[in-house]
Amino acid sequence: MQIRKVGVIGAGQMGTGIAQVCAQGGFEVGLCDVSKERIEAGLATINGNLARRVKSGKATEAERDATLSRIRAVPSYEGFGDYDLVIESAVEDEQIKRKIFQQLCPHLNAHALLGTNTSSISITRLAASTDRPEKFMGIHFMNPVPVMELVELIRGIATEEQTFTAVKEFALGLGKTIAVSEDFPAFIVNRILLPMINEAIYTLYEGVGGVEAIDTAMKLGARHPMGPLELADFIGLDTCLAIMQVLYEGLADSKYRPCPLLVKYVEAGWLGRKTQRGFYDYRGATPVPTR
Ligand code: NAD
Repeated sequence: MQIRKVGVIGAGQMGTGIAQVCAQGGFEVGLCDVSKERIEAGLATINGNLARRVKSGKATEAERDATLSRIRAVPSYEGFGDYDLVIESAVEDEQIKRKIFQQLCPHLNAHALLGTNTSSISITRLAASTDRPEKFMGIHFMNPVPVMELVELIRGIATEEQTFTAVKEFALGLGKTIAVSEDFPAFIVNRILLPMINEAIYTLYEGVGGVEAIDTAMKLGARHPMGPLELADFIGLDTCLAIMQVLYEGLADSKYRPCPLLVKYVEAGWLGRKTQRGFYDYRGATPVPTR
């Protein structure tokens, strides 16, 4: 099947990135969130990103205008009736994702495919909450979506080969490289990345090093482009905690227990860059470590 119209649910940092790359790739895009204000904020983010692309010479003004003209706000799920693929990218919370699929499915075309950008939750379980598990896949983009080359593809137990092929063509059409993962907690990238980040938070919690020492050590000592705590702030500490909980519960191994300090930051509402405070405070001109 040919994918032409792509819906995106969740206009946060990932949903806006997905909407942007799809529109840049020539797809018609509909963006949805819990309120008109959230959608407007998402569209403003995309606008800003595209303005930066023009400024840095990566796109012309005409290309920016064409990209923007392909993205529209879809304030309610009825608006997705003629879409070929809808990708869910709301918060990393299984109950919220299930509810979205239950409310969305009755409005979809029989041929429509469904994807989720979940970082960790079982694709098979999410698929089972829809009316079309054979047309359901994990389509896991990386952050920031316009920059990162990889898309991880995950089949659920019921995913049909036709679905996989169509989604693979779609991801390749966006200029991305794919890696296929089996459906186990957190898939490949986050199964490896998040325990490293969680260990960095334990290293801080136990006083082995401060925020700057830990990030400097991993940047200069392991050649990581970002330090693990800086990266945690970039991902969002709520998302990091949700992924660790899925790993801990899904694999039933104490080595995945979320660090209590990560839990504390999330309880404080210090979620990283998106709330301007996490392991660093971003409210000033330069980030300042909070510990
Ligand atoms: P975010 O907090 O930036 O955005 C989440 C958005 O979901 C918000 O705009 C929120 O209003 C919206 N939302 C909440 N409930 C909703 C509902 N019922 N219906 C529609 N929208 C709803 O989070 P994010 O970083 O964009 O993460 C979104 C998804 O992408 C998560 O599943 C996350 O695990 C995954 N992901 C995140 C990263 C990352 O680095 N942050 C990378 C890959 C995948």
